[in-house]
Amino acid sequence: MSALASDSLPVEHAALHVPSLQDVAKVLQTGLSENFGTVSVEVVECPDLKEWGLAAEGLGGATRLMDVGGVPYLMPTPMKEKIYDMKDYPKLSNLEKGGFVIGAGAGPWPYIDRNAEMMPNLTVNEDGSVVQKTKISRTFDEDNSYKTLDLPSTETRNALLGNLFISEGKKGNVLKISCKNRTGPKNFVSCMRETLLAHYGEEAVGMGGVFKVLSGKLKIHVMPDFSPCPINSDEDVNNWLKFYEVPSPFTVLSTFISRDPGLDLRVEHSHGWGEAEVSSGGHYHYDTTPAEVEYLGYYNLAQYIYRLDKPVNTHSFGRD
Ligand SMILES: [Zn+2]
Repeated sequence: MSALASDSLPVEHAALHVPSLQDVAKVLQTGLSENFGTVSVEVVECPDLKEWGLAAEGLGGATRLMDVGGVPYLMPTPMKEKIYDMKDYPKLSNLEKGGFVIGAGAGPWPYIDRNAEMMPNLTVNEDGSVVQKTKISRTFDEDNSYKTLDLPSTETRNALLGNLFISEGKKGNVLKISCKNRTGPKNFVSCMRETLLAHYGEEAVGMGGVFKVLSGKLKIHVMPDFSPCPINSDEDVNNWLKFYEVPSPFTVLSTFISRDPGLDLRVEHSHGWGEAEVSSGGHYHYDTTPAEVEYLGYYNLAQYIYRLDKPVNTHSFGRD
């Protein structure tokens, strides 16, 4: 099944509030310290993120978030025709010369004839060629095991939903965020998002980047194949998903926005893959070892939020 024609897709966008990185560093330092024993947030020159397996070296230049489709296309019953081409995402967000796309989404089900998690991670060059580092994770019905696979550069489809951070992939200043010893109840990403919401209030602040869980364990989920029966509540969602506890190190692509400025957004979404267990990968929920956990992340601020193919009939379950 081919992707929907990009010029047929409705797209809206809004400018986000963009404080200075120094200002956000101070705000996050205070907020994360309420949830972690050791916290350091500073503005640094972005290290070469290709060394972390990313498809570009940095998070800089013409930054935007993009929220594609949504959970309402996955459930109650999947709209399997909702297939997008990630190669179109830079142009659809007004980056005419291409861009670097990372984040969390649903995999291209026709590729393996099955629903899957996806860790979008590709650079689309001006000539349309791609540097493809995207991975997908899929389950096996026989024994509820799962596996993470690399997508070839010829496979750039994204089914149903996606939450992306798009930039020119340039070096430049970013936030370096280190946290150890979780003392509060919030996961790393929710803590940052809720901190920005409390500080900036009505003004929506968006961020995207990558973090590593350097020590400890974490809980992830992987979507199995499409549910044969409709999914109508968060309880149904949790009965359908497959949950796993995985070891570190684990690298996670992450997007979030402090609040939804009326675009029917998923406000945070993070997917990653393991290095210790090369088969591990999926949707980040939280760490399960608060005393041992250590996070190290690099994030940049987004200048805009783009909303592609927003569902007309929406609902709020299944967005955790
Ligand atoms: Zn997810």
